[in-house]
Amino acid sequence: MIHNVIVLGSGPAGYTAALYAGRANLKPLMIDGGVGQGQEMQGAGGQLMLTTEVENYPGFEHGIQGPDLMQVMRKQVQRFDVQIVEEMADRVDLSSRPFTITAAGKEYQCKTLIIATGASAMWLGLPEERPAHEGGLGGRGVSACATCDGFFFRGQHVAVVGGGDTAMEEAIYLTNHCATVTVVHRRDSLRASKIMQERALKNPKIKFVWNSKIERINDPAAGEVTSLTLRNVVTGEQSELPVTGLFVAIGHRPNTSLFRGVLQTDESGYLVTHNDVRTNVVGVFACGDVQDTEYRQAITAAGSGCMAAIQAERLLEAENSGIESTSETW
Ligand SMILES: Cc1cc2nc3c(=O)[nH]c(=O)nc-3n(C[C@H](O)[C@H](O)[C@H](O)COP(=O)(O)OP(=O)(O)OC[C@H]3O[C@@H](n4cnc5c(N)ncnc54)[C@H](O)[C@@H]3O)c2cc1C
Repeated sequence: MIHNVIVLGSGPAGYTAALYAGRANLKPLMIDGGVGQGQEMQGAGGQLMLTTEVENYPGFEHGIQGPDLMQVMRKQVQRFDVQIVEEMADRVDLSSRPFTITAAGKEYQCKTLIIATGASAMWLGLPEERPAHEGGLGGRGVSACATCDGFFFRGQHVAVVGGGDTAMEEAIYLTNHCATVTVVHRRDSLRASKIMQERALKNPKIKFVWNSKIERINDPAAGEVTSLTLRNVVTGEQSELPVTGLFVAIGHRPNTSLFRGVLQTDESGYLVTHNDVRTNVVGVFACGDVQDTEYRQAITAAGSGCMAAIQAERLLEAENSGIESTSETW
């Protein structure tokens, strides 16, 4: 059987793409990511499975828990003719159409492919960063997204770990809400671009702790962040930084290893798209965080999932009417 559309991934982008493709009668197949591999690679539901309160997804007046939002999206998709395979795709052949996707040893073929495999925030690897349901403080004071969670820390003292542009952006953004923001960086200078450095360094609410790494986030037993235990990597000295929140801003890794050498990526591995969601291969679309280095929000991911499904539908419709898309016209 050759499917009209296969959607890879079941975060906000994947569910929205499947919803639109399902309602367009395309009978999409979704390969949802299965059980995943923890924080480094989430399974079905994607990144929002790692968080608690989501207050900025429209339609939920009082906010909603991340996993509940993803459950609602899944149920909504299941109302339509969407087949869900609870696996992770492990191989793709995009050399000719129909494309072939392999998951758990089984091959699936499709005329169009929508890639919504997202990205994973990079973490320090401390046990306290794990989600709350695993006994950690993830979503309970430890976050990887200031735009998402900064609001919860109004008037409080927080820390950001990292030294690149993302860390500076997160720190500057947090000064809109927080009393102070302490940037903890393991070197004595920043990697961030000059302009971002200047903005952060002259912001009176931002302080810097140089040459230091975080050894422990306190206090999982209390169920909240009370302080960080730091170690100066030059002197070996240990110190305590009293904060109620920690934002880990050491980068994101797009989930694109399957497409390396096949689809065009930027220097960080994100899929490059044109006309919003088209990749360099005719019939292959990408949406959500896997192609977004700028916004990385559930609503923007959902929006681009909608675009990808509409574009796939239009391509199929054009082809059914005998109009071929070539790499020149794509
Ligand atoms: C801790 C945290 C809190 C956040 N809070 C908010 C918030 O409050 N508001 C907000 O708007 N945004 C928030 N975000 C950002 C938001 O989660 C992302 O922008 C959004 O989830 C991106 O959606 P996506 O569908 O592109 O990808 P993801 O959510 O990353 O989902 C990717 C999906 O692809 C699957 N996948 C990966 N590889 C494969 C494969 N090979 N085969 C099949 N499936 C695969 C994964 O299993 C997953 O299901 C938060 C992020 C984090 C980490």
